[in-house]
Amino acid sequence: MKKSVVSKEYQNLQKDILALQENWKKSINPESIIPNLDKGAMSAGVPAAALTSINFEISLFLQWIEEINTLLTKMNPELETKLAGISALVNEETAIRWIDEAFSFNSVYFASFAEENGLEEWIPQFLAETALRPYLQVTAEKVQHEITHAVPGAGCPVCGEPARLAVLRDEGQKVMTCPRCLAHWQAKRIECAHCGNYDHNTIQYITIEGDSTSQIQVCEKCTGYIKVIDTRQYLSMPSSAMLDLNTIHLDFVAQEQGYQVVGQVKQSN
Ligand SMILES: [Zn+2]
Ligand SMILES: [Zn+2]
Repeated sequence: MKKSVVSKEYQNLQKDILALQENWKKSINPESIIPNLDKGAMSAGVPAAALTSINFEISLFLQWIEEINTLLTKMNPELETKLAGISALVNEETAIRWIDEAFSFNSVYFASFAEENGLEEWIPQFLAETALRPYLQVTAEKVQHEITHAVPGAGCPVCGEPARLAVLRDEGQKVMTCPRCLAHWQAKRIECAHCGNYDHNTIQYITIEGDSTSQIQVCEKCTGYIKVIDTRQYLSMPSSAMLDLNTIHLDFVAQEQGYQVVGQVKQSN
């Protein structure tokens, strides 16, 4: 089994971006992130970041966009002309909108922004999402002590990203972890993160030949999957963003077999 099916180039770019984001995080003033957690809303599956106000600095945002553009251009010089002029399109109002729309995965908004401004379709959402993540990660650090579990199907309790990665710790406890905001929470060993199914007859595991630390947990009820990585023998623990990237081959295996990032319970009538 080939360990990686995505190009080295793509993985290296992603790794460079993770390094940038680690750096950016240091320039965020934690005081500018004000959680206003409402237990009722959270138990209904509203992500904590939606209940948080973020006073972000436009100058940082623009600087980050420039840094991503430099990285992208270094990887692919042809992008230079496509990325030129983006910063000029982003004023304070646009930046706030980008942050909001990236948070709620509004690809329709970004596609029309791209079209109106003659940009390639992937560019605005990619930039916005990349610049949003450090804010989500600082938010997660601030609220982590309040995060104990997730509502099945609601995704990450901090940022709403579909749940897709778990690690096994200590005695084999399963801890869900979010590659987008790096929050973590407990989950039952046999439990589908998408539909809450805990029937061991319909929760199965796909194992990967030659890779004893990885499993894909799949649910026959909703056809959702998550990756379960036994990190107990790891010498150093990568961040969940890095772990997600390094186990992308598992996503391909799961999706090839018909399982989905977001499970769907079939209507039975
Ligand atoms: Zn998250
Ligand atoms: Zn399920």
